Amino acid sequence: ELDKSVNSVNEHSEEETKFNEQFDKYKMLSLNYKLNHANYDDSRYIDCTAGLSANTLQEFIPATQIKGKDKDYVLESEYYEYCKEDGDFNIPVEKEYDLNFPEHLNVYCFPEGSGNKFTQPRKGSTGVHNYYILDGGSVLPVLALDIRPGNTIMDLCASPGGKSFIALQTLYPDCVVSNDISKSRTDRIYKVLGEYFYDLEERWLKTKRIKVTQNDGRLISGEYYDRVLVDVPCTTDRHSVKENDNNIFKSTRLKERLKLPEFQTELLVSALKMVKKGGIVVYSTCSLSPVQNDGVVYMALQELWEDSNMEFVVKNLNFALAQTQDVFKLADANIFRYGNVVLPSTHQNYGPTYFCKIQRIK
Ligand code: SAM
Repeated sequence: ELDKSVNSVNEHSEEETKFNEQFDKYKMLSLNYKLNHANYDDSRYIDCTAGLSANTLQEFIPATQIKGKDKDYVLESEYYEYCKEDGDFNIPVEKEYDLNFPEHLNVYCFPEGSGNKFTQPRKGSTGVHNYYILDGGSVLPVLALDIRPGNTIMDLCASPGGKSFIALQTLYPDCVVSNDISKSRTDRIYKVLGEYFYDLEERWLKTKRIKVTQNDGRLISGEYYDRVLVDVPCTTDRHSVKENDNNIFKSTRLKERLKLPEFQTELLVSALKMVKKGGIVVYSTCSLSPVQNDGVVYMALQELWEDSNMEFVVKNLNFALAQTQDVFKLADANIFRYGNVVLPSTHQNYGPTYFCKIQRIK
């Protein structure tokens, strides 16, 4: 049935074919090609696929470098405590050498430094949009999940649905649950899915291949999944340096900001409790903040080490990610203890995206 639905979006009208040819003209790079060393010509057609929008911000300045705008920064140094693994607690870290790239997922980006932007997606003959534009960094947390055919997946903080969308585009999962806390946010998920999934109601929602739920991710219990993605609310560094509206660095949001690592830890603990034995959790943020990244991973694993019999191992993806270096600028592997970071740069302007892969072993 999945094949049929793929075929139905593969039928192109004349106009769509012309449109797709334009993509060839721009010589976009297929990330799929990059990672698989496949034949570029075989993977030219773009159906409802993901696109990577480069250069939404030409000059990215990490939030910590802005001076004088707001004096209420969280002192990161206060949180460096997490670096000390004292007592018996020690997070095991295992090296991983490969990154599985799902065959049905097509991801495209412009060549490094081209400065081109994707035009707005358009509806094709089946009524679904032809591609989904997202920050390039968002692809890696989903690849780190290592989704396999038949997997059940929980996307705990899913709205607007970009990462759920990538997970579904692999065509591997039996079920993806896209959860978010509020009605307005889950409405956004429905809207995005409606734009990209042919016959969403009948083919995807009624068959329970996609479920959209509205829950506080910290309070879900008694559900178990093969894969859990927890893409938490964070200081959203790119947004924070560009927009004043609702900026988390405003002094009125100081308390909320100070409490973020605690809040994120609660969400990660909840995610770790709902993964099956052998299953994988990926924790991600779009922040460069050490405490919101490795700090939260440390705090969550420490809490479960103290309060449960569950055991986890952190997967070191440094080797596996080497094959993505032509597309992503990754932070020096020695800076981060547990996860990896896609760094924004003027040539490959994605991220920031932090992601950490954790496997439950007991
Ligand atoms: N993963 C999304 C994507 O790729 O499109 C982006 C997620 S955004 C960084 C974080 C989301 O977490 C927001 O939509 C927010 O509404 C949601 N959120 C905040 N608190 C939550 C909670 N307690 N439980 C579940 N979701 C929550």
